[in-house]
Amino acid sequence: MTKLLEVFDLKKHFPIRAGLLGGVTAKVHAVDGVSFDVAKGETVSLVGESGCGKSTVGRAILRLFAPTAGQVHIDGNRIDDLSPAELRPLRRRIQVVFQDPFSSLNPRMRVRDIIGEPILNFSLSSSGSDLEDQVATLMDKVRLPRDAMNRFPHEFSGGQRQRIGIARALAPGADLIICDEAVSALDVSVKAQIVNLLSDLQDELGLALLFISHDLAIVEHLTHRVAVMYLGKIVEFTDRRTLFSMAHHPYTAALLSAVPVPDPDAPRNRIILTGDVPSPIDPPSGCRFHTRCPFVFDRCRIEEPPLRIVGPAHVSACHLEHAPGEVIAHAA
Ligand code: SF4
Repeated sequence: MTKLLEVFDLKKHFPIRAGLLGGVTAKVHAVDGVSFDVAKGETVSLVGESGCGKSTVGRAILRLFAPTAGQVHIDGNRIDDLSPAELRPLRRRIQVVFQDPFSSLNPRMRVRDIIGEPILNFSLSSSGSDLEDQVATLMDKVRLPRDAMNRFPHEFSGGQRQRIGIARALAPGADLIICDEAVSALDVSVKAQIVNLLSDLQDELGLALLFISHDLAIVEHLTHRVAVMYLGKIVEFTDRRTLFSMAHHPYTAALLSAVPVPDPDAPRNRIILTGDVPSPIDPPSGCRFHTRCPFVFDRCRIEEPPLRIVGPAHVSACHLEHAPGEVIAHAA
């Protein structure tokens, strides 16, 4: 598949200063060397607990702030070092849907203006009636009634507002949509509707999606590949089927073991994580997960495990030879 987005060794460190005018006393290692790619028409998910750096990756790709190091390429062309003017034509190709549909829409704008704004900003309409036609078509695509065009965001439900956000992201003809916890604030049944909508739009338009979420149960329903992040790094990356059936990294296994299942009495190997995620200001030595890993051994505290191939199109950053499921089975 043709690669649309490529991210190479991306880092984002936020300086901590002593007072307003003070020097830098420490750095938050929010993202610390992340590499992955997204093909045209593909969904790649970034998953992990709150604070793992997954949203920072999305925002660095969008250039909401400059990366500390690393490169971002679209269609093979580097974009992280472009000036704002050079970046502008590319911005329409990468759009975002944020988590909170209540605060990401201007409450004083009518839906027609919210969806039409990016079309105007990128000069993509030839006349007022053409703009109205485009907005109406986008409302059809996200399954909102056309006669709602003159209403304000507060007149819609949470799910409908997220549909407006998706229409706005589609408006300039995006190839890649970054969905940053885009369904997290919604009720379960509404989540499913939005996930299905995104899936249908991907099939119809060939969209690539970078789906950022802490919710593995949702990710399982729409992703092609999954990158699991912990404390600023990707610790496992593979296709959906492999991740959900043969996770190699203990952190992934712990996340999966916490996903609710329909039958709570069904036998499963729960991996309970203790303690909090360590501070990204001073990450642990060796494997960053060693302070919480139930399988930790001496080498883990000293030597940082690189991402290594553990199966076809499957990489994991762990010193263990075997997946946690096999380790538990051997020990039983
Ligand atoms: Fe656990 Fe060690 Fe693997 Fe890190 S390297 S995940 S501490 S077993």
